[in-house]
Amino acid sequence: LVSRKKKPEDTVITIKGETIGDGNPHFIMGPCAVESYDQVAQVAEAVKGEGLKLLRGGAFKPRSSPYDFQGLGLEGLKILKQVADEYDLAVISEIVNPADIETAVDYVDVIQIGARNMQNFELLKAAGRVNKPVLLKRGMSATISEFINAAEYIISQGNENIILCERGIRTYEKATRNTLDISSVPILKQETHLPVFVDVTHSTGRRDLLLPTAKAAMAVGADGVMAEVHPDPAVALSDSAQQMDIETFKKFINELR
Ligand code: PEP
Ligand code: MN
Repeated sequence: LVSRKKKPEDTVITIKGETIGDGNPHFIMGPCAVESYDQVAQVAEAVKGEGLKLLRGGAFKPRSSPYDFQGLGLEGLKILKQVADEYDLAVISEIVNPADIETAVDYVDVIQIGARNMQNFELLKAAGRVNKPVLLKRGMSATISEFINAAEYIISQGNENIILCERGIRTYEKATRNTLDISSVPILKQETHLPVFVDVTHSTGRRDLLLPTAKAAMAVGADGVMAEVHPDPAVALSDSAQQMDIETFKKFINELR
């Protein structure tokens, strides 16, 4: 069902007036994790100030270590919803538990399924049963074919509003946190009718590479870019090395435009 052979025209997903997949670039920006109302509101104000609509923030954080900040959970979703209502933005947040999908629908505009859960088939099916767009990230060790099959799990349950997101894969290279598989973008665009985003933050893990990789994403035909923004990255509770501060974020957006 996700194949372009099945449906030749591009899927366009409308989220609060943003038409993702319409041929114009869209941006999903926001902190790695929701830490407080003030932190999210500061980023929301900047996002709105740049004329953008899509705010991200993690409430359920799938961390490599159980001793790292795990996110604020439902409290984080409530903060996102409050900020979204106040700034008229759409919010996107990761859900990790199939049982939380139905609750999440009341708080977020887009459900994110993260790299570590790309093959959590019960989660994919649960997201496929609700009427809410899903941003599906590529697993860090998943082939393109496995990634497409994960999207098929969602669409097979009835939800065809899926955004694919390349976020880098594991290779032997250590200069970046993951290796951005830039060629996956035109391949996914050819093989599926779904919009394709590139997450430059988690693919590189390096603040200095966010702008050049975002340019590359747009040059190969990505429908949009995701990147992390924090009012004070030095004190961020997660991904402190790669989030942009608000001034850098403004320059980033203007340079891409
Ligand atoms: C995220 O976007 O917050 C995240 C954890 O990314 P990934 O699942 O790609 O590692
Ligand atoms: Mn992050």
